[in-house]
Amino acid sequence: MGKDNRCSFCGRSASDAGGLIAGVDGAFICPQCVETLNNVLALRAAEDKRRKTANMLDFELKTPSELKAALDQYVVGQDEAKKVLSVAVYNHYKRLRAEVLGGDKSSEDDGFGDVEIEKSNILLIGPTGSGKTYLARTLAKMLKVPFAIGDATTVTEAGYVGEDVENIVLNLLRAADYNVEKAQCGIIYVDEIDKICRRTENVSITRDVGGEGVQQALLKILEGTVCNIPPKGGRKHPDQEYIRVDTRNILFICGGAFVGLDKIISRRADEKVLGFSSASAAENNSAKKNALSRVQPEDLVQFGFIPEFIGRLPVVSTLNPLSKSDLVHILTNTKNSLIRQYTKLLALDGAKLKFTDGAVEAIAEKALKFGTGARALRSIMESLMLDIMYKLPDDKSRREVVIDKDMVK
Ligand code: ADP
Repeated sequence: MGKDNRCSFCGRSASDAGGLIAGVDGAFICPQCVETLNNVLALRAAEDKRRKTANMLDFELKTPSELKAALDQYVVGQDEAKKVLSVAVYNHYKRLRAEVLGGDKSSEDDGFGDVEIEKSNILLIGPTGSGKTYLARTLAKMLKVPFAIGDATTVTEAGYVGEDVENIVLNLLRAADYNVEKAQCGIIYVDEIDKICRRTENVSITRDVGGEGVQQALLKILEGTVCNIPPKGGRKHPDQEYIRVDTRNILFICGGAFVGLDKIISRRADEKVLGFSSASAAENNSAKKNALSRVQPEDLVQFGFIPEFIGRLPVVSTLNPLSKSDLVHILTNTKNSLIRQYTKLLALDGAKLKFTDGAVEAIAEKALKFGTGARALRSIMESLMLDIMYKLPDDKSRREVVIDKDMVK
């Protein structure tokens, strides 16, 4: 280092700066500039951390009773499931907040400092169209966290044709506009979870592609792992760039219809299962309902889940099949009810839409026959409204549309 050398950043001479550190090609830096750079980096790191923390805390924590009350505005019935979900979701985000903020202030004096609260994913058991997905989606909306739906049946073990399990997480990342920290605090609903059960009657000599291997793959993301996600989806290949997403704090809500589970429960409890010949449909329904609400982990293992998988879904709740009066309620009384939606749609054309009570009942009865819960309501309404929505914009004289029972039938 010569006497005339100067710092390449601030221009201070070696003697003024108290010495210089030499780099390549005659570049030098003085201790003051090193310190300044250190400060700049520390500031950036602090800012980065603040931004990440803010992203991770970007949800609206509500108490269980607030969540339940909000759910009541959208989802009809399913009181028990709403309660269980509200508590589980509240606990999950409370735990998350405490973790992000570096543990409770009280942790030192209350003796819980080394207690680590584990994540509790949720299992929802209930028939098609009873509101499982809707509950999960509505909760995510209330908390203002990203939400995605994955289908367990599309997932295959790595190496088989089908989707990698990471694609489920990719959906969430997309829902979070590729904001990794936000995605890491989101909710994923995994549909058709009952379809990945190990079937004991499956005597195929090939490997059980849709069963245990898929459960193992899902298990990893359920309990928490860092996924390498191909940003564009599809299968992984070696020279691709990945986005790393940690699933440790993602809340997984898994749902399925679990056809036949009621029989397993009843058999365990040594109860007589009512057959179709000896009981009415209503009796059968309530017997099923009662059996399902007594589900135990061992029943789910019997159904075909590996015990580790069940261990990762400690919160279990059951949903009831929707009755005719539930369907009427869904059509008319919920905040986002179909009738309200179509009324608004027609109001945009300047027309009033009315349904007689008989019409609403007839729609509910029709939907009940499909056996797909509230799902049938939309298609029935859509075909009912098609003609009207086709003609109305041209018919300026028609300012009111009344739908009656006969039109539905
Ligand atoms: P699944 O139980 O099969 O997941 P979904 O939650 O997807 O059923 O229900 C389909 C649609 O039916 C929902 O988007 C919602 O509009 C309606 N729906 C289902 N259950 C209810 C319910 N209990 N209350 C209000 N709407 C419901």
